[in-house]
Order: sequence, then C-alpha cells, then structure tokens
Amino acid sequence: MTFTTEQMRFWSPEVRELEPYTPGEQPKIQNLLKLNTNENPYPPSPKVVEAVQAVLAHQADALRLYPDPDATQLKQAIATQQNVSVEQVFVGNGSDEVLAHIFKAFFIQDQPILYPDITYSFYPVYSQFFGVKTQQIPLNDDFEIVLDDYRQANGGIIITNPNAPTSIALSLQQIEQILQANPDRVVVIDEAYIDFGAETAVGLVNQYDNLVVCQTTSKSRSLAGLRVGFAIAQAHLIAALEAVKNSFNSYPMDRFAIAAAVASFEDQAYFEAQCQKVIQSRDKLVEELKEIGFKVLPSKANFIFVTHPARDAAELAIQLREQGVLVRYFNKPRIDQYLRITIGTDQQNQRLVETLKTLL
Ligand SMILES: *Cc1c(COP(=O)(O)O)cnc(C)c1O
Repeated sequence: MTFTTEQMRFWSPEVRELEPYTPGEQPKIQNLLKLNTNENPYPPSPKVVEAVQAVLAHQADALRLYPDPDATQLKQAIATQQNVSVEQVFVGNGSDEVLAHIFKAFFIQDQPILYPDITYSFYPVYSQFFGVKTQQIPLNDDFEIVLDDYRQANGGIIITNPNAPTSIALSLQQIEQILQANPDRVVVIDEAYIDFGAETAVGLVNQYDNLVVCQTTSKSRSLAGLRVGFAIAQAHLIAALEAVKNSFNSYPMDRFAIAAAVASFEDQAYFEAQCQKVIQSRDKLVEELKEIGFKVLPSKANFIFVTHPARDAAELAIQLREQGVLVRYFNKPRIDQYLRITIGTDQQNQRLVETLKTLL
C-alpha cells in the first residue's frame, strides 16, 4: 500500500526514510513446498507441545499476570545446555530482537561497524534504524570471508556463521583471529544455523571479553513460530543488553514461549536427532543437484546456495513457484544468479529435484 504525502505528514521524519527488511513470503497456496525461509521441516519435540498444553491446563489463571521479566527459568535451561552461567545469557523475542538490542547496545560508535557485503540483510536495516555507521567488506570470489579485511579500525564487527545466504562456515580458529585483532571492539557471531554442522563460538566466551554469540530456536529447534532467540557473552556485555531491553519492553518472553523453549532445551536427544536428519538430507540433496548441473556452495547450514550455469536464477525461481515450490531469490549484485534453498525432508527434496528436472 502507498500513502500520500498528506497522509504521511503524521509520520516521524526518520520513519519516512526507513527501508524495512522484507521477510520471505508466507503464501497460502495449496500443495505448497516451502523452501524459502529456512524453517525446519520437522515438528518441535513432543515435550514442547506438552509444555504449552500444561500452561493452558495448569496456569491459565496465571495469564492474568505478567510473565517473569527476566525469564529466569529459560535462561537457566539455556545456561545448562550451553555450559555457561546464567548471568552470561540474554533472551529475546526471536534473535532478530536480540540482534536489534545488540546494535543499540554496542554498535553506535564513531567508527563504522564491519560486516560482509553478502550476509543477513537485516544488518543494514538495524544500522539505518539506530544510526549505526557501516562498512561492508566484500567476500572473495568464492564467497569466503577474508580475515585480513577485519584488521582495520572499526566500531564493531558482526559475522553470521555459517554465513547466510552463502551457507559457508568459518572455523573457530578463524573466529579467534578476528577476536584477537579487535580486542577493544565487540565482535558478534550470529549463529542462527550453527547446529547444522559448524563449530559454535560459545566455548570462547569466557576467554574473550569482547565476544557476543547469538543463537535462535527458530531453525534447529523448529520453533520459528514461538519467537525465542538468545545471546551468550560475559556478564558485562549481557548487562548492556538488559539495560536496552528494559528501556524498550520489560516482558518480551510470554509464558508460552518460556515454557515451550525450556522443554525444547531439556530434550537434547530429540534436537540432536532432528539436526542429524537435516544434515543427512542436505548432503544427499547436494549430490543430486550437482548431478543435474548445479554448482552448490559448501554448506554447513539447513539451506544451500546454488547456481546453474545454463539457467537464469530469477526465471528458475518463478518457474519453481508456478509448480508450487518456493525458494528464495535475492535480486542483489553478485548473487543474482543464485537461489537459496531450504533443506526439507527427503520426500520434499525429492519433489524439488523432480520439479527441477522437468524445468531444466
Ligand atoms: C533466521 C535468522 C535470524 C532470526 O532468527 P529469529 O530468531 O527467528 O528472529 C537471525 N540471523 C540470521 C542470520 C538468520 O538467518
């Protein structure tokens, strides 16, 4: 919808200038195969469903009351699973909210923050929103991060690992090099996809007082609809995030979200089994796509980034959509011949491959 200048006179001048993030579409098409927003194809742990039902059964009266502003029970469950102390955990309404607080808390500096030219497209949006100066650092021609580029003066660094939408991961050793080169700047590692085969930096938190690791329950824990994300860092950094959060919304985690996420963290066996299934399906799908001529970047995520030498990616995305198969296309320089495809179940991936075979 567009509005007239007359109607827009009520908007804050700053808001008139905003360029908001555009999420992948959530259409209501029948027989749709949705491989466009990196959701998990499997349901969450049955214990999550039980926990939500238990809130309704035993605590419905408690819905009158505000939830715990500190979500202590959830922080405790995350601390136990991640092997850190509870003061080292911050929770928010999806990691998107956690990231927003991170930008506000650490990145409004004289010097620009650094992040790759190809990465999570919410970073430029938060930067504009909070007035954060930025400098985008080009990935090399193989879409890899060049570590030496992160040795220049900066106001902070944010890296998605594995990177999105490229799916390529950095090693812990490479992350340590970035941390060591920037001891007086906050380095944020956004680990939204870490559980699908890359190495988490959470184990480095006690060693580096400038490290913030951000994770989400949306992908590996199948809880995108619940909105629970978290950050792990030393207590002095978590305290800054708490100050920002309590200046914005004291109760971002509702009673359902807290109970359900706790149940998910307590069912580690289910979680690990689902991640393994996705990883196995991914490796199988990669082989099948290579057989029909796709180039596939090496993925440590629950999605792959692919290009076909003989086919225009934008056209292919449209043709797939006509067949009810949704993938993500970014009309951006350098990646406009690539498609980002979420890993589905083996059966879903098979439908994708069969559809592609008819189109190629
Ligand atoms: C999906 C994603 C997020 C956001 O996750 P939510 O917890 O659902 O808000 C953050 N960072 C990256 C890189 C993502 O892909």
